[in-house]
Amino acid sequence: MNAETTSTVKKLLATQKRIVVIGHKNPDGDAVGSCLGLANFLKQLGHDTHVVMPNDFPDFLKWLPGCDQLVIHEKDTSRSEALISEADVIFTLDFNSLDRTGDLQQILKESEADFVMIDHHQAPDDYAKATYSDITMSSTSQMVYHFMESLEGLNKVNKTIATQLYTGIMTDTGSFRFPSTTAMTHKVIAKLIEAGASNAQIHEAVYDTNSPERMKLLGTALNNLTILPDLHTAYITLTQQELDAHNFKKGDTEGFVNYALSIKGIYFAVIFIENKQENIVKMSFRSKGSFSVNDFARNHYDGGGHINAAGGRSSKSLTDTITEFISILPSYKNELTHVS
Ligand code: 5GP
Ligand code: MN
Repeated sequence: MNAETTSTVKKLLATQKRIVVIGHKNPDGDAVGSCLGLANFLKQLGHDTHVVMPNDFPDFLKWLPGCDQLVIHEKDTSRSEALISEADVIFTLDFNSLDRTGDLQQILKESEADFVMIDHHQAPDDYAKATYSDITMSSTSQMVYHFMESLEGLNKVNKTIATQLYTGIMTDTGSFRFPSTTAMTHKVIAKLIEAGASNAQIHEAVYDTNSPERMKLLGTALNNLTILPDLHTAYITLTQQELDAHNFKKGDTEGFVNYALSIKGIYFAVIFIENKQENIVKMSFRSKGSFSVNDFARNHYDGGGHINAAGGRSSKSLTDTITEFISILPSYKNELTHVS
């Protein structure tokens, strides 16, 4: 974090504040881990701190220390709105635009609190008094570690914070394999293990607690895989009916798209997931090398994210969404053929 941002944050935190830390809608491991870790740190500094999430988080994170203290707006609407409207300082973590908070965006836009953004997504909006944005970072959880470092607070990294941040870094880096994983990421991870994060236990808690239904749903997803070899693209579809038949729960499809990306010669992978409740098709985009799914999602699907991982949505039917996708793809043939 640069000197100017550090100084702004130090001034904001110089006296005791009412603080709310907020993650994005459909929070993932990085959103939950970074918010919990930061909140733990701010509490140790003496601030009255709460974490609010727009909606619930997946079961594979429900073992995380401190996650029972999260206030979920969708379930606990009046409490989360009261916390936000009474806050002096609001930290927004792991997203770059207030519209990523779903139903919370209006109340956040109306808030007079001072905002601090900590985030690693491309093209951050300019709403915060202090913006700590770095798109080269593996995860927001790694940035929370550097944030504490800038405030000379690394002595506050206890086993709980170490576990929360380790989980966020691990899940956002695909277990330290994506290109965003740097030597610095590993140095931070080493410090977190020294501070008490139990790496083997965390991997097991996140990855080895699959339900039988999720495994069967993966079977359906792989069965629905379509490969377009000439366009170096593979995609998976899941209908609402298929989700219902496998007792779908939030987080069950996490990582499915990576199977499509793991095929030899495939540089672009998509999963289309029908959501009848919201009347949309939710998409996850993944790529290898120079093909930017952030641009693709922004240009066509009201979405965004990172170069190699992004999301978006369509309000067309699932069939029409796929037809449209297939019609768009050929205009990217050159980019998809010359991936570097
Ligand atoms: P996922 O596919 O795992 O949901 O998301 C991949 C990445 O894209 C994450 O960093 C996530 O924050 C971002 N992302 C997912 N959906 C959206 C979206 O609708 N809009 C934007 N701007 N980013 C998204
Ligand atoms: Mn993240």
